[in-house]
Amino acid sequence: MTETIEAPAGLKPVHHWIGGRSVTGSSGRTGAIYNPATGRQTKEVDFATPEEVDAAVQAAKAAFPAWREISIAKRAELFFRIRELLHDRREDVARILTAEHGKVLSDAIGEVTRGLEVIEFCCGLPTLLKSEYSEQVSTGIDVYSIRQPLGVVAGITPFNFPAMVPMWMWAPALACGNTFVLKPSEKDPSASMWTAELLKEAGVPDGVFNVVHGDKVAVDAVLEHPDIAAVSFVGSTPIARYVYETATSRGKRCQALGGAKNHMIVLPDADIDMAADAAVSAAYGSAGERCMAISQVVAVGHAAEPLIEAIKARIPMVKVGDGLDPDSEMGPLITEAHRDRVASYVENAPAEGAKVLVDGREGAPGDGFFLKPSLLDDVKPGMRAYEDEIFGPVLGVTRVDTYDEAVKLVNDNPYGNGTAIFTRDGGVARQFQFDVEVGMVGINVPIPVPVAYYSFGGWKASLFGDRHIYGPEGIDFYTRGKVVTSRWPDPATSKVDLGFPQTR
Ligand code: NAD
Repeated sequence: MTETIEAPAGLKPVHHWIGGRSVTGSSGRTGAIYNPATGRQTKEVDFATPEEVDAAVQAAKAAFPAWREISIAKRAELFFRIRELLHDRREDVARILTAEHGKVLSDAIGEVTRGLEVIEFCCGLPTLLKSEYSEQVSTGIDVYSIRQPLGVVAGITPFNFPAMVPMWMWAPALACGNTFVLKPSEKDPSASMWTAELLKEAGVPDGVFNVVHGDKVAVDAVLEHPDIAAVSFVGSTPIARYVYETATSRGKRCQALGGAKNHMIVLPDADIDMAADAAVSAAYGSAGERCMAISQVVAVGHAAEPLIEAIKARIPMVKVGDGLDPDSEMGPLITEAHRDRVASYVENAPAEGAKVLVDGREGAPGDGFFLKPSLLDDVKPGMRAYEDEIFGPVLGVTRVDTYDEAVKLVNDNPYGNGTAIFTRDGGVARQFQFDVEVGMVGINVPIPVPVAYYSFGGWKASLFGDRHIYGPEGIDFYTRGKVVTSRWPDPATSKVDLGFPQTR
């Protein structure tokens, strides 16, 4: 977590957003926000007290009845307006992402664009909230189901997609008629404040969308709050497990998405150049700080040598630099501490028995939190570099002899977020889709993030909870079902009947 610091003079403050306005924090605890490309602190963010979290929940609770009453037509119209504003200003928020996260501007625009797709999906809320109706289930009796909002719901989000991941949550939550409290990452929280102002401008009533910043204190206050009905979480696996267990033990609905170790299997028949392009893009894009990044290539049989050579040849071409420089393809890591932790996997690799083929610690530019792409060979289960989610630009290669060994590696891994297979054999690819115990599968596609009208989520330690996020499962998560059995009898046929109701 970001260290707590005394507020240095002159740094731009980031406050909470409660009831439609910016609210200065009162805890005296703040977190440092850096520009990772320069290594300098640029802002400081207030850390909320439980009372400030409560104030946000009360604002959301007060806004709920009126928000829920708004007709589906009007809510849909609002979503179209939000979509237009966000679309027109996506570069503004992308610049905020680059300044605080470090990802290159084109990637930041890509993040906003993928988030926009979720908002576009939510513009279809009249269709998404349609229910079922059965006429004459018994003589004169009809049955229909309706889906209603839960009330106040909360989202807790990670640093690596400061705009998109919150959109995965607040867009379907609001579309379904809930009001929302967001606790974004304390490392890059400004995009959430930008979003709050945009939603207000679009016409979202005050209190419908609130933001509180902070660390474990704020998260625990969310998890403990009796008026929060559901919690969506995206972050690392240990915190996801903690959030899921705490929230559900308090009777809340919870979906908690965790970390990943995504394997890309390359079979001997694959197009090696295409596989190498995919591996380099998926391992080093956004400096490897993506939960769907490929961190492990599994080279089967004689695919290994040409594949490794092709990856090695591509790595020097990756342009590492400040994300605002249009020539940069890969930016810095989020913090100095994280950069050093990622570098330690390269440092320790030889002692563990792996080979460092490309060492990204050499020649990193500037004063920022940079690390260039690294490539490790002979990485095996049991090594730290294999077992841990590194979450940086370090790609490991594991060599195996057969498809079965490759699939066993993936299935034995505790994570199950994403995976990919590269092959020209449709039969093997289909078998892989059948065999593999992972939530999102790519066939010759290295980062298979589902489009907005499917749902996103991993298996095993990558997701705690039953429902995946956004798409149809997102609508399901943010609503609860009610079934109405209805009779409008002819008074002339009414009589007392103490028998158990049966269809007639
Ligand atoms: P993180 O778990 O450190 O933080 C996520 C959120 O939890 C933040 O809001 C943070 O303030 C809060 N938090 C951190 N420590 C806490 C604690 N002890 N108690 C309560 N709350 C705490 O994750 P991160 O470093 O911000 O993000 C990177 C991680 O997120 C990676 O593991 C990545 O794989 C994962 N991630 C997963 C997905 C997915 O869809 N599965 C998507 C994006 C990121």
